[in-house]
Amino acid sequence: METKYVFVTGGVASSLGKGIIAASLAKLLQSRGYRVTIQKFDPYINIDPGTLNPYEHGECYVTEDGAETDLDLGHYERFLGVHTSKANNVTTGKIYNTVITKEREGAYLGKTVQIVPHITDEIKRRMLLLGQSGNYDIVITEVGGTVGDMESQPFVESIRQLQWELPDDAVCTIHLTLVPYLAAAGELKTKPTQHSVQALQQAGVHPDIIVCRSEKELSAELRNKMARFCNVRQGNVIESIDAPSIYQVPLNMLAEGLDEKVLQCLGINLYPQSDLSRLRAFLDRLYNPQDRVDIAVVGKYVELQDAYKSILESFVHAGAANHCKVKVHYIHSEHVDRSNVAEVLGPMHGILVAPGFGERGLEGKIEAVRYARENNVPFFGICLGMQMAVVEFARNVLGYADAASTEVRPETAHPVIALMEDQKTTTVKGGTMRLGAYDCALEKDSLAQRIYGCDMVRERHRHRYEFNSAYLQEMEQAGLKASGRNPQTGLVEIIELPQHPFFIATQFHPEYKSTPENPQAIFVAFVKAALDYKSSKQKAE
Ligand code: GLN
Repeated sequence: METKYVFVTGGVASSLGKGIIAASLAKLLQSRGYRVTIQKFDPYINIDPGTLNPYEHGECYVTEDGAETDLDLGHYERFLGVHTSKANNVTTGKIYNTVITKEREGAYLGKTVQIVPHITDEIKRRMLLLGQSGNYDIVITEVGGTVGDMESQPFVESIRQLQWELPDDAVCTIHLTLVPYLAAAGELKTKPTQHSVQALQQAGVHPDIIVCRSEKELSAELRNKMARFCNVRQGNVIESIDAPSIYQVPLNMLAEGLDEKVLQCLGINLYPQSDLSRLRAFLDRLYNPQDRVDIAVVGKYVELQDAYKSILESFVHAGAANHCKVKVHYIHSEHVDRSNVAEVLGPMHGILVAPGFGERGLEGKIEAVRYARENNVPFFGICLGMQMAVVEFARNVLGYADAASTEVRPETAHPVIALMEDQKTTTVKGGTMRLGAYDCALEKDSLAQRIYGCDMVRERHRHRYEFNSAYLQEMEQAGLKASGRNPQTGLVEIIELPQHPFFIATQFHPEYKSTPENPQAIFVAFVKAALDYKSSKQKAE
């Protein structure tokens, strides 16, 4: 079968959940037996979001092959259960970088290099790239931003050109809009959608399907009205009502027939839909919890939920696996100190110290680790969270009061976390961390090995600093165990405290690989430990 292309654009407002709609459609098509992938085109000029502050852009999601990407790729992987790659996230910066590099090489000698055709040619080349690999029947491309933005114009123009260059039934365009409810008037309003579709049509792109986000159900009358004004078939105006969980959206889209309409538009035979039983079973557990735990996520980007997106989602998956609701409490590490730590963390059944960069809030993270270690509260540290667990151990167990990571205290006499050797000569900031999946060999009879149930795992990384092995022997003698090591370099990837009921920390980011249907093992075990801690505390009271 020739590869087919679905484009998803957005209008009226940002944050409508284009990524979730694209991922839900992909899930439905995948469950009909099609080979599907999703890619995201982002209109900003950064080469990738790796250098962006999480406050600007939410979490930076890392792929297996080490690309620093938009957090929507996390949704794609969680919904589809397949890995994405460097090729799945393209930015305006990448496009221009390629074109300008080619210009310097002389590829356009004699020509004026312009947005049309040179930039749009490069956009189209990348839009078709995954399809040309032969690995996919359907490639879904989500265009970031909102139609009408200056930044997204070259992307919309490229879709316009492709609509003419590819066979008629090779392209389907979906436009996601907002149909707001005006409480004072007691009405849903379709005008913003009409205007947004007009803007798209002025750019020469005709949507085949309109998906309307709304708080309330759209009547047949409203749908017909939008179809009439927006030049789409009656029946191709689809409602996406606010859902209690993002994982409900594929089922809502199935009920609305989104996948059928897309397949019709692409002229593809309708394979029967599988029953999505694993997704339904997950939702059943999610909606019917039998218990609840309170877990602290101690970090410094707590004002913005999206900054820890994959961690939050991992708790949703791990909670459902334990038939338990996980209530995540964001704790700002800058506001934690020795005087208030017991009060802040006392009510929690588990403490997770989050990844991060830089000095702000570090002392609060170290205090949170100390509290968890000394009070036998289940503890899980990720990346910077692991590094601070090592610093805490060095300070309070080994007695090196000045122990630190050289990231923030290069002059310390006890650099227990230090810059990796190959980072010492690196000066460029973008894309130069230790990124992507590496093997990790698990120590026999360790907590890590019991959790994973195997001897070797592969998890994803994003860091420059590492456990300083010069301190390993001393720390192991004092009761810390390095239970996961990279088999090639010996780098310490997991630490644990065997005398503590549940204390584990990883240099890698296990949250990137958790999905509803395959919840990540450490998160599942951590939630279980929190449940056990809660019931032992209740018994003691
Ligand atoms: N800042 C630390 C490092 O670069 C930790 C990074 C992280 O938590 N992702 O090693």
